Formats: sequence, structure tokens, C-alpha cells
Amino acid sequence: MVISFTLSACGQNRNVNQSSLKMNTSKPENPYYSHTDTTKLNLTDAEWKKVLPKELYEVSRHAATERPFTGTYWNAFVKGTYYCAACGNELFRSEAKFASTCGWPSFFEQDNPKSTIFRQDTSLSMERTEVLCGRCGGHLGHIFDDGPAPTGKRYCMNSIALDFVPDNK
Ligand code: FE
Repeated sequence: MVISFTLSACGQNRNVNQSSLKMNTSKPENPYYSHTDTTKLNLTDAEWKKVLPKELYEVSRHAATERPFTGTYWNAFVKGTYYCAACGNELFRSEAKFASTCGWPSFFEQDNPKSTIFRQDTSLSMERTEVLCGRCGGHLGHIFDDGPAPTGKRYCMNSIALDFVPDNK
């Protein structure tokens, strides 16, 4: 199911801990969020609902899709690292991001083997491969075979499922 919503509130947690050396490495309302703890998370839906902002919860836990050309990162090309907005797992480097015409942030490779996992998705009468966070299992988007070299892959992600930390912050 595709759920549309405005993203005006999606930046509310992006600037936590701006004064510390590493930006956004914790979220007071989400005790599971970490850029360093790689322990796999296996929380109930109710537990996630308690700690995630509503729009992120709908995407991460119920595979909602943000409207194209509306998210924070679809047209952003600053050097830095993209993390899972639900758990802080390192997902992508900006070097793997490319300008896609699809309206969602797109990457040709994940940061490391534990960044994401894949699952076949036959919803909406389509055969697609869903991309999930390797740590929390949260929905991030889908992967397609029409990306650029060297991988030919296109990780088509929801901006709201990503947290971006620019380099040198
Ligand atoms: Fe995650």
C-alpha cells in the first residue's frame, strides 16, 4: 500500500547532539538508535511505535512509500554518510549516491555487507526486491537492476528512512 503524507516534520530528529563531535549519534526518544552498536534488533511493532516518529514508523515498520520528489535527500549531493533513521545502522556513503530521475534517493551500492538485507516483495501485483536495514529489519525501499556502473544496481530509498551526517561534522 502506498501511503502519501507530507514530510514537513521529518527533520525533527535530525539535529540531535549537534554540539557533540559526532552529530546525531543518539536520539533521546529512541534508546535503540546507535551509530556504533551493531547488535541486531528484534523489537515488537508496539515497541517501534513508541520510539519512532509517526511517518518514519509507517515507512520503516509498514513499508509505506513517501511521495517522489518530496523527501529530504532525493536531490542532495553533499559528502557524508547515510544511516538508518530507525536504528542508526550505517547504510550508504555519499560516493555511492547518483542522480536518479525517480524522485527518491538512489545508491548503486551499500556501505558494507551488514548494511542491508533483501526480501522478495510481491505486493501491489509486482515482483520486486525489498531492501531492509541489516540491523533493525526496517523497510528502506527497493532495489532494481537499472543502476549505473560498477554494480548496475539502484537502491531506491525513502528519504525519511535515512539519516544523513555530513563529513567533518
Ligand atoms: Fe535500522
